[in-house]
Amino acid sequence: MPTSQSPWITEEVLMFQDAIRKFIERELVPHEDRWWKQQHVDREAWHKAGEVGMLCASIPEEYGGGGGSFAHEAIIAYEQSRAMATSLGTNVHSAIVAHYILRYGTEAQKRRWLPKMARGEMVGAIAMSEPGAGSDLKSVKTRAVREGGHYVINGSKTFISNGLLADLICVVVKTDPDKGAKGVSIVVVETAGLEGFRRGRVLEKIGQKGQDTAELFFDNVRVPCDSLLGDEEGRGFYQLMQQLPQERMVIALGALGAMERALEETVAYVRDRRVFGASLLDMQNTRFKLAECKTHATVARAFVDDCMAKVLDGELSPETAAMAKWWCTQKSCEIIDECLQLHGGYGYMVEYPIARLYVNARVGKIYGGSNEIMKELIARTL
Ligand SMILES: Cc1cc2nc3c(=O)[nH]c(=O)nc-3n(C[C@H](O)[C@H](O)[C@H](O)COP(=O)(O)OP(=O)(O)OC[C@H]3O[C@@H](n4cnc5c(N)ncnc54)[C@H](O)[C@@H]3O)c2cc1C
Repeated sequence: MPTSQSPWITEEVLMFQDAIRKFIERELVPHEDRWWKQQHVDREAWHKAGEVGMLCASIPEEYGGGGGSFAHEAIIAYEQSRAMATSLGTNVHSAIVAHYILRYGTEAQKRRWLPKMARGEMVGAIAMSEPGAGSDLKSVKTRAVREGGHYVINGSKTFISNGLLADLICVVVKTDPDKGAKGVSIVVVETAGLEGFRRGRVLEKIGQKGQDTAELFFDNVRVPCDSLLGDEEGRGFYQLMQQLPQERMVIALGALGAMERALEETVAYVRDRRVFGASLLDMQNTRFKLAECKTHATVARAFVDDCMAKVLDGELSPETAAMAKWWCTQKSCEIIDECLQLHGGYGYMVEYPIARLYVNARVGKIYGGSNEIMKELIARTL
C-alpha cells in the first residue's frame, strides 16, 4: 500500500494506522460474516474499539478522546473500508456525531457525552433523513415544540446508521416550521428509558449488512431543553452545512480504501488464473483494464491527499469536499465493477472479496448527500 507516500500520514499517524489495521484484523474481520447475518455488531465491539482508541480519536483528551486530528479519523475510515470491516459504524459515531458535540455543544454537553462515546459506552447516531426528506433536508417534518422546560418531539426518521444500538442521537428537527432553513435545529436525545421513542426495523440492505441502519419513531418524546445542541434554536441547518464536508471526506477515504483493495485482490487473482494456457494477467485487455484502474486510483489518492492537507489546515471548502466525495465514490464503483468482471463467475460469488467490495461500494454514491447533490453544490460555485 502506498499510504506512507501520503504527506498527511506522518510517522505518528502511520503508527496509529498500523495499530488500527491490526485491531480490525483481530477484532472486527473475524466477526463480519456473523454481523452481516444479525444486521448489527455486538455491543462488546464498541467497548473494545473504545479501549484501543479507535473511537473519538480526534476529540481532545480533556473530553476523553485520543487528542488526534482528522487524519486519525481518515485512517480509520480508510482501513475499515479496505478490510471490508464496515459493520462497526465508527465514522458516524466519531467523525460526525462527536464533532457536532465538540463544535457546537455547551461545556456541560461535552463533558456529559464525549467521554462515554470515547469509551464506547454510548453509541452515537445522526438522524437527518425522513421517509419524505433526504436530499431536501430543509423539508424535514419532525417537530420539536417547547413546553416549559422540555422539547416535545414528534416525527420519524429512516436510514439511520447505528440506529439499532444508538444511545445518543442528534435529531434534526423543525423548531419553527415557518422559517425554512432557519427553523431547523438539532436536539441531542439520550435513548435510555426514553418514553415515546421507538426503533423500527433494521433495514435490509444489499451491502454493508452488518451495519444497523434503522427507522426511528418519536411519539411525544420529551427531552429537557438543555438537549438542544448549542444554546440557540434555528442553528441546525448551519451546523449541518459546516460539518458535512468532514463527513464527505470520510466517505471519500472509505472509497479510496475500497478501490485500492479491489486492485490488490484483482492483480493477485488474474496473476494466478489460467485462461487459454496463459495467465489472465498476460491478456492485453486485463493489463489495460488494470492499468486504467490503477491510474484512476492513483489520481483519486492524489486528490484525497490534497484535500487532506486542506482539511488539516482548516481550509477545505464545501465544494472541494463535494468533489472528493462524488469523484472517489464514482471511481470506486467503476474500478470495483471492472475488477469484478476480471474475476469472471467467481466475482459474483460472495466468498470472493471483490463481491463484497462491490455491494459495499454502491451506497457511497447515495449517502452523505447523493452525488447529484454534490454536483449541485459544485455547480453553484461556477
Ligand atoms: C446505508 C445508508 C445509511 C444512511 N445513513 C444515514 C444516517 O446515518 N443519517 C441520515 O440522516 N441519513 C442516512 N442515510 C440517508 C441518505 O443520506 C439519503 O438516502 C440520501 O441523502 C438521499 O436521500 P433520499 O434517499 O431521500 O433520496 P432522494 O432525496 O429522494 O433522491 C432520489 C434521487 O433524486 C436525486 N435528486 C434529489 N434532489 C435532486 C436535485 N436537486 N437535483 C438532481 N437530482 C436530485 C438524488 O440524487 C437521487 O438520485 C443513509 C442512507 C443509506 C442508504
